[in-house]
Amino acid sequence: NTPLLEIRNLKKHFPIRSGLLNRQTKYVKAVDGITFSVTEGETVGIVGESGCGKSTMGRTLLQLTTPTEGEVIFQGKNLIGVSPKELREMRKDMQMVFQDPYSSLNPRLNVFEILSEPLTTHGVRDKQKRKKLISEILHVVGLNETQMYRYPHEFSGGQRQRIGIARALILQPKLIVLDEPVSALDVSIQSQIINLLQDLQEEFGLTYLFISHDLSVVYQLCDKICVMYLGKIVEMGDVDLLYENPRHPYTKSLLSAVPVPDPLHKKERIILKGDVPNPASPPPGCAFAPRCPEVMDMCHKIKPELQNCSGVQVACHLYKDERVTVHV
Ligand code: SF4
Ligand code: MG
Repeated sequence: NTPLLEIRNLKKHFPIRSGLLNRQTKYVKAVDGITFSVTEGETVGIVGESGCGKSTMGRTLLQLTTPTEGEVIFQGKNLIGVSPKELREMRKDMQMVFQDPYSSLNPRLNVFEILSEPLTTHGVRDKQKRKKLISEILHVVGLNETQMYRYPHEFSGGQRQRIGIARALILQPKLIVLDEPVSALDVSIQSQIINLLQDLQEEFGLTYLFISHDLSVVYQLCDKICVMYLGKIVEMGDVDLLYENPRHPYTKSLLSAVPVPDPLHKKERIILKGDVPNPASPPPGCAFAPRCPEVMDMCHKIKPELQNCSGVQVACHLYKDERVTVHV
């Protein structure tokens, strides 16, 4: 089963100037060597606090921003370094839904114009044909053709996100990167959009990369999750394994904040001290060390690598021995 998408050692570093006296250029390593793969029809969640590099990762893998290093293999083809024409062709199959349905739709265009754009870019010049496709896709997302000539401000937040989803769907993509698609919406609307995404996935066999800081929504939607901290994956694996038995102290703390229905499994809330460190000067050794409740001496000196550990992958020195046992 070859993966639909393979990310290999993906990096996105932004240069910053660190002050007048210091002329040396520093880099923010927003995405710092990410490797994972996504199988067709699967939903992979990318989770972490804001500022951990999730959105940059999504944008980088779609080539909306140029990666510093690494490979993005989509349907067997490396996206990095292909011509703009080829990239446009490949884009048909990979789309994005953005977090904010208020700012991601051009307020000066009506729904017909918003949804026409991708179609004309990909050669559907005939207006009647576009009208037909657009009215079909509006029904698919729970809207209808009477709304075709309205402007974004005439819609509610949930409806706007439906338009955003329609725009992503209209070229019949294989993969959709969803960047916090419900976090700007009211809680009552969130579940409607989540249900819509689940129905669409089933109907069209879509593959999702679901970027979110909301771990209960991730649990509902995802098959596999990658937990990111300061540009790196710290834990990755099957969603049930990970929620049942989180290994990395960062994953443990994120999950401890999620309300659980089963009181037997009630975990004590772990409150982390401090904030995510400045990504321009990450701590040496484990980047989580300054906030980690289980920190050891070695954590300040040696960077933990992502290692297999009982079916999941974890980057933490706590599991060194378990790793050895597993392999013996
Ligand atoms: Fe905590 Fe050390 Fe594991 Fe980092 S390596 S998460 S500091 S125990
Ligand atoms: Mg973000």
